[in-house]
Amino acid sequence: MRSLPMLKVSGLRKYYPSKQQGTWRSKQVKAVDDVSFLLYEGETYGLVGESGCGKSTLGRTLLRLTEPTEGSAVYQGEELFALSGKSLQAYRKQLQMVFQDPFASLHPRKTIGSALTEPLIIHRIGTQEDRYARVLDMLQIVGLQADHYNRLPHELSGGQRQRVVLARALILEPKLVICDEPVSALDVIIQAQILNLMKQLQQDLKLTYLFIAHDLGVVRHISDRIGVMYLGKLVEEAPTDELFANPLHPYTRALLSAVPNPDPSSKRERVLLEGDIPSLLNPPTGCSFHPRCPLATERCGNELPLKRQVAATHYVACHLV
Ligand code: ADP
Ligand code: MG
Repeated sequence: MRSLPMLKVSGLRKYYPSKQQGTWRSKQVKAVDDVSFLLYEGETYGLVGESGCGKSTLGRTLLRLTEPTEGSAVYQGEELFALSGKSLQAYRKQLQMVFQDPFASLHPRKTIGSALTEPLIIHRIGTQEDRYARVLDMLQIVGLQADHYNRLPHELSGGQRQRVVLARALILEPKLVICDEPVSALDVIIQAQILNLMKQLQQDLKLTYLFIAHDLGVVRHISDRIGVMYLGKLVEEAPTDELFANPLHPYTRALLSAVPNPDPSSKRERVLLEGDIPSLLNPPTGCSFHPRCPLATERCGNELPLKRQVAATHYVACHLV
């Protein structure tokens, strides 16, 4: 049985003013362009797409690190773009973000202990002793030891640093964690360890994840459902198994064909994407994927395809489906 949606994002847009000089009228970068999806409690929703398609912008907008241009996001019944003051602070405690580069997100001269204590101090949680005990607990939960408390980030390996970043995100007991490429900077073996840890933590701490990555193989490993993003738009959405068994959008098929397939008997054809990712400043007319699409027709260049439901939980925006 499916739980209630924890987050309902509708018609979300984030346009940045272009930094390009010398144009006679100002243009906008449509980093997120009319994105809608639901996030159910306890699930992992994987958001995948090539670099520059707007994934991080979407995450940052939901965290209120940047304001949306348009649209709505209802979190547990409340419009989160209307939150301010105390209610915004309470929301920020329930929602945390884990970034890609654990080295950049940890202060080089702060010990692991003080990095983990900081959020507790900011949110005025516990006495000094409580906080110390909580940090030691948290170190253990993410698979580190008490003697990491006094270490500095550079004394740790990349995987250990990412464990610290996870611990810091989880120490305030959030409900929703937005993970932006959390394992992209790590070796494959370490990636698998961190992904397994994240799965375990999700079960133990009843977390909901929005998991952002450019690598469909990584997203597959952890997601219940996947949304595929292309140039600021969601072009397909389905449960993970369904998406891999029955990809419908030509872009999804191309992404999928690049994922190494463990089954040698399967005859999945490699679809090579032609051309570069178009500029968000001058997005193609009609379907923004049409200049790279092997199947594009005239209609695709003229008419924007809308997201349609093709099965109970499968959505796609393509004229050819
Ligand atoms: P992704 O995370 O999928 O790689 P981003 O969300 O980082 O994509 O970027 C989407 C687009 O928005 C890119 O073209 C990027 O240059 C642009 N962009 C991101 N942040 C800003 C910003 N603060 N100001 C202007 N443009 C931005
Ligand atoms: Mg990004």
